[in-house]
Amino acid sequence: MEPTKYLLSEAEMPRQWYNIIPDLPVPPPPVLHPATGQPIGPADLAPLFPLALIQQEVSQERFVPIPEEVLAVYRLWRPTPLYRARRLEAALQTPARIFYKYEGVSPPGSHKPNTAVAQVYYNQQEGVRRIATETGAGQWGSALAFACRLFGLEAKVYMVKASYFQKPYRRSLMEVWGASVTPSPSNETNAGRQVLAQDPDSPGSLGIAISEAVEDAASREDTRYSLGSVLNHVLMHQTIIGEEALKQLELADAYPDVVVGCVGGGSNFAGLAFPFVREKLRAGKPTRILAVEPAAAPSLTRGVYTYDFGDTVGMTPLVKMHTLGHTFIPAPIHAGGLRYHGMAPLVSLLYELGLIEARAYTQNPCFEAAVQFARAEGIVPAPESSHAIRAVIDEALAARERGEACTILFNLSGHGHFDLAAYDAYLAGKLEDFDYPPERVQEALATLPKVTA
Ligand SMILES: *Cc1c(COP(=O)(O)O)cnc(C)c1O
Repeated sequence: MEPTKYLLSEAEMPRQWYNIIPDLPVPPPPVLHPATGQPIGPADLAPLFPLALIQQEVSQERFVPIPEEVLAVYRLWRPTPLYRARRLEAALQTPARIFYKYEGVSPPGSHKPNTAVAQVYYNQQEGVRRIATETGAGQWGSALAFACRLFGLEAKVYMVKASYFQKPYRRSLMEVWGASVTPSPSNETNAGRQVLAQDPDSPGSLGIAISEAVEDAASREDTRYSLGSVLNHVLMHQTIIGEEALKQLELADAYPDVVVGCVGGGSNFAGLAFPFVREKLRAGKPTRILAVEPAAAPSLTRGVYTYDFGDTVGMTPLVKMHTLGHTFIPAPIHAGGLRYHGMAPLVSLLYELGLIEARAYTQNPCFEAAVQFARAEGIVPAPESSHAIRAVIDEALAARERGEACTILFNLSGHGHFDLAAYDAYLAGKLEDFDYPPERVQEALATLPKVTA
């Protein structure tokens, strides 16, 4: 009998993260100081991050050992299963073999604790007692709340106001793990007050919530900031996904022709894909690597590759990335985790170098794919993950058209149990497809910081 899932034992779990930087054909562009426009040093970041993470951000080590304390927590749900989607293949009548890595088995239900646990551990080691962060739909906030609880730190989460009221159960989850959750924009920070003065009814955005959390951390000695995506160290922590997948595919005697992931800030995609990019760069494997984004926030396919702020108010360092402009606020699609104006600098660089491909979809075709997946495989995907599934189904149908076998691997980054209201709206035919508004993006791009570097 052919297996449905490929499992690793705890002893077989990888003990290193993969850092792609030393394998890149060109070095990543430097991070710049928001005021001076000059490259920043570790001291500039010290008010926000512990030293260990600042070092990982610029590390040239190809493999970084995962601390024992982090491995011990990972074992609560890792290694995660690799599935062969046999029932989906049959439903699609495709000759393609479809594999997926399922990250929804973690306690918060997504890939995000892979980095939350690591980040909180390094903060604890350096004596930090409290962490401030932002969250959109609540997945990152719940991952950080979970990790803070395990290591005994306080968690303060600025949650995008629209989601705070639309997704009350993610907030409940954070509160069960002991976090304190504030709707953003709030009156608790200068950044929040500045936004509210301009627009008292602001629904908030990830960029605004980042401004609030950064200000909170910078203004308190006992507090550091934590980001759930985008940064190099975050992407590196996620590579345990791809390292496990490489071992599991060996058990299946398979190697992917196409690797697919959805992208918001780029972390789950990078986590699965970077080890396969390594094999492409170092071993000459011809794998296609595909990043899938929402048409409402198409930073890779429609954005500009330039220096921009990570937040809305303009407090973070400047990073070179694909961006729609830091003041662009994406339409309220249900994939809250994909509503971000920028893209991870490392993912942006790979796209610029032609090492990865990108594609954008509106939300109705993504929910259609998610429902088809749930009816075949059982698991109800997160709306974010549904973007990857749409692309996978399209690839599998194209393989059927061509009458050619191929092997597809994708990341099922989380489950959709907290997103059933979005499924309700889809099934009732009430889901709106948002067009990318070129005028609003032109406005936002006009506010790009002027950088000569
Ligand atoms: C946050 C989130 C994403 C998007 O973030 P990335 O950093 O791009 O991975 C995707 N899927 C799920 C389930 C998420 O929670």
